[in-house]
Amino acid sequence: MPLDGAVLDRAAHRRAEPDLVRTLRTDPATRVVLVHRGRLALAGASPTDGVALLDPADLSDVGVAADEDQARWLFLGEGDGTTYVALVLPDDADAEEVDIEGVDASDPFAVLARERSWSGLRELVGGLDAPLAGLATEAVALAAWHANHTRCPRCGGRTTVENGGWTRRCVAQGVELYPRTDPAVIMTVVHGEGDDERLLLGHAAHWPERRFSTLAGYVEPGESLESAVRREVAEEAGVVVGEVAYRGSQPWPFPASLMLGFAARALTTDLRVDGVELTDARWFTRPGLAAAVGSGEVLLPGRASIARSLVEDWFGDRLPDP
Ligand SMILES: [Zn+2]
Repeated sequence: MPLDGAVLDRAAHRRAEPDLVRTLRTDPATRVVLVHRGRLALAGASPTDGVALLDPADLSDVGVAADEDQARWLFLGEGDGTTYVALVLPDDADAEEVDIEGVDASDPFAVLARERSWSGLRELVGGLDAPLAGLATEAVALAAWHANHTRCPRCGGRTTVENGGWTRRCVAQGVELYPRTDPAVIMTVVHGEGDDERLLLGHAAHWPERRFSTLAGYVEPGESLESAVRREVAEEAGVVVGEVAYRGSQPWPFPASLMLGFAARALTTDLRVDGVELTDARWFTRPGLAAAVGSGEVLLPGRASIARSLVEDWFGDRLPDP
């Protein structure tokens, strides 16, 4: 699956090493990816140039090494003799006021935020090989957790970052907090056999015109994955699902989803879209889908998505891009 790239060793046993991040920041075998508001610093001007992997010395040159805020540094893992960390810039690093008031024109985070080109993960991933895609996904996902969980969910108090960025701890209560991932199910829904076999695709209200894709939805508390698949398909399209088989998963850190992919067999074919999440749904035979995609009548989701992988898994081949 795209974005997976489980090639990097996350080396979880190292996270508790004393002064881990501080040590890595002076190690020439370290490479640093920069994250700013969910985007990654690029090696060049365009996403096709890939993600910047900075030498710690590059950061010292702009003055970052003097910053001792451990909370901005996330230990990502190791591979091929290189250790990878992420540096998360403050959200307002590129704020105009920094210059206007002349307060911090030499703020290293402001310098980094402005001198680099940035890209979201989705625009990048098609051009990254597996280890880098996995690294980039891990960095963005972990940074998003920190950005959205600065306070303790129990008491609202301040938390501090520990374990190379893999835990936070409530200062008042001492409770350890772990990064969260929200499970979501995404599924092909198929009816019939042989030449009559058809795939259900839907069009969501907020999508571009002609975009059709698999149905999907979040798993609710106290619900199994199989039940979530059946509930979502019934709610959104009015179709009853029987057998549900797991096909694979994909992290989707926008900000914190894990997409769990299934192939579901439909027991009914009448469509009744809910009009809220889905505004259209259709059944496609394989030749029908190929023709609709070829003519541009149907726009499938991009190659960075598990939805595309699931559709092509059913289709049995790659489908053309627009
Ligand atoms: Zn607390």
